[in-house]
Amino acid sequence: MQLRVYLDNNATTPCDPRVFEAMRPYFCERFGNAASNSHSFGRDAEEAVVKAREQVAKAIGAGTAKEIVFTSGATESNNIAIKGTAAGYADKGLHIITQQTEHKAVIDPCWYLEQHGFRVTRLGVGRTGQINPNELDNAIADDTILVSIMTANNEIGTLQPVAEIGRICKSRGTLFHTDATQAVGKIPIDVESMGIDLLSLSGHKIHGPKGVGALYIRRKNPRVHCEGILHGGGHERGMRSGTLNVPGIVGLGKALEIAVAGMEAESARLTRLRDRLWEGLSSRLSDIFLNGHPTERLPNTANISFRYIEGESLIMGFGDVAVSSGSACSSALLEPSYVLRALGLSDELAHSSIRFSLGRFNTPEDIEYAIERVSTRVAKLREMNPLYEMAQES
Ligand SMILES: *Cc1c(COP(=O)(O)O)cnc(C)c1O
Repeated sequence: MQLRVYLDNNATTPCDPRVFEAMRPYFCERFGNAASNSHSFGRDAEEAVVKAREQVAKAIGAGTAKEIVFTSGATESNNIAIKGTAAGYADKGLHIITQQTEHKAVIDPCWYLEQHGFRVTRLGVGRTGQINPNELDNAIADDTILVSIMTANNEIGTLQPVAEIGRICKSRGTLFHTDATQAVGKIPIDVESMGIDLLSLSGHKIHGPKGVGALYIRRKNPRVHCEGILHGGGHERGMRSGTLNVPGIVGLGKALEIAVAGMEAESARLTRLRDRLWEGLSSRLSDIFLNGHPTERLPNTANISFRYIEGESLIMGFGDVAVSSGSACSSALLEPSYVLRALGLSDELAHSSIRFSLGRFNTPEDIEYAIERVSTRVAKLREMNPLYEMAQES
């Protein structure tokens, strides 16, 4: 039997069977349109959506379920948060602040706005991937309307000082959006204590279904005036038109409920597995480096550079251990990851990096198998690399 080990959970996760079971009735039997509530088919679907909205609100500490808008995923949530807020506040100012290691789903909407008259400041990050809060404070101007900084990075797992960012934004009177797609369900999130005004999340990164996500939009202290970008039937209080994806929404609610209920124990378990992976690899191999923050990091993520190895050739050598070199999007282009470049890594080292991202269904056996597979492969590739040989001799 061929062992297949999936360590690419930051790209997507397998749907939890409990989530799938919760969704199942909403395809063929309970198929109503949540907006057609003149009959029981529609009301049944509407009730399911109400429940899921409460599950999402509870998972992130939102004051009311009315602050949750269902979307097709975090890409859409980020687009609404950034472009919708820009439209709602354009008369107050045209300046937006973000940072260099955001996901493309934040970078590209900001770039789009820049083509349409807005000014965008992109903060740099330090060697561990965190922004400097003082730099943020200094960058905020009279016309700054929005700060968009992710909670946790998808490639390196670095956590940003979100509560501090929230405090700065509040004291300077600007809105704070965070892409928390990789953070929800893995670390505690509370929009109130963290001063978050808009938050994006996605189902398929937390063992829920693909094609569904949510956007939190604050309604009190302050009430955020975000404009919708999809116009149609006025669903989701006008913020996001289109018939609701009821099975997906049910799955998202269930996935968040499961993740948050088990978070403490699961986070400890994943941290142990992740640290065992690093320990196993670093005890067998020289010249490897952990990227990102040593401690302020997602429990499931280890991004590792293997000097004298090209990441793509490494990956091709272990087809049964699924990992990612750089982010999924940039590996299609085969450009060095812009996230790793922002940390100050050379092109060469960025190309020799692998992201290991663990999930709920990984076992200690998976990790031992990956250690064996990766270290054997690295040793073999290095043997064939004259640069490595030269380095060993000198
Ligand atoms: C995966 C991901 C996204 C995109 O989410 P989709 O639901 O696939 O659109 C956005 N931001 C981060 C940080 C992600 O990891």
